[in-house]
Amino acid sequence: MRDDDRPARNWRRPPDRPVSSAPRESSAELIAIQAEQRAHYDRIRVLPNRSAGLLGPFGQSLNNRERAIEDAIRREAREAAKMRGGPGRTRPVVLHIPHASQYIPYPVRRGILLSDAELERELIRLTDHLVDELLHVDGATRVIGYHSRLVVDPERFEDDALEPMARVGQGAVYTRGTDGREIRRLTPARRRQLIDRYFTPYHDHLTRMVDEVLERDGRCLVIDGHSFATKPLPSEADQQPDRPDICIGTDPFHTPPALVDALRTAFEAERFRVAVDTPFAGTMVPQRHYRSDARVRSVMLEIRRGLYCRESTGLESPDFHGAWMRIHRAVEVALDAWGEAPLG
Ligand SMILES: [Zn+2]
Repeated sequence: MRDDDRPARNWRRPPDRPVSSAPRESSAELIAIQAEQRAHYDRIRVLPNRSAGLLGPFGQSLNNRERAIEDAIRREAREAAKMRGGPGRTRPVVLHIPHASQYIPYPVRRGILLSDAELERELIRLTDHLVDELLHVDGATRVIGYHSRLVVDPERFEDDALEPMARVGQGAVYTRGTDGREIRRLTPARRRQLIDRYFTPYHDHLTRMVDEVLERDGRCLVIDGHSFATKPLPSEADQQPDRPDICIGTDPFHTPPALVDALRTAFEAERFRVAVDTPFAGTMVPQRHYRSDARVRSVMLEIRRGLYCRESTGLESPDFHGAWMRIHRAVEVALDAWGEAPLG
């Protein structure tokens, strides 16, 4: 089929397929994980096709974006195949990317007090654009968020009393946008419903994936992948203007210092400016294992968006592929140097 004949597709479609690289798509295990994730969300009755048309018609630029993504996938698959021994290999790593989707099911969209244009702006600011394509770890089990963080934010503590961002209306269920404006009127019952439908199943899924790796390999490293805006958002705690390229987030119990050193060295070797726990601190660990199970290690990688995308739109920039290569190399070199999450 010629490119021009390709039907326009919904770029806000849920991430219902492994978005990149041949090794991933050809691994029966990972396909099974994806199928499980789909089935899991089917059970909570999300209707993915309801998102089509949610935010208006899709223009030519979005088709261009789709083409750019497919080109990047092909390039990535070629590079990944060159670097490693091919499909089916695993390592004790869960790659967790919660914020890359812009999908908001219609019943949730209806409860958000923003016009389509305003919602678009919030999504551009809050989404970890393309991180599910940008971050690739050979042999990792991937847990990719299915919904936008405006549905629920799985990276927050469920209990607002424990969650610092709840103070600005951005706990597990957001009530305020990045500029402090009210975006939701929440009753306790409505909050409970969103938690039950989206937050709890997400965490159950993540926990299940970590437990599977633990059972298989006896240990598991969670790599928690995010991005951040070059210019601080008004809602963010750290307003220092001079931001690094890569922020490594740590937890005193779950993050091995040797891994942080290996990551810092490897990213610096790729000419990135690296900071630890600045401007964002912490990393994701499933509640079941939090501060109690030393077999679960975790580290957060936050990538500055200006390195790979146009921050005013969230679309890929010409630097995307170069950034992909440098980040991929750095992560693989760091994991090899650390030595505790070998590719089996
Ligand atoms: Zn994020």
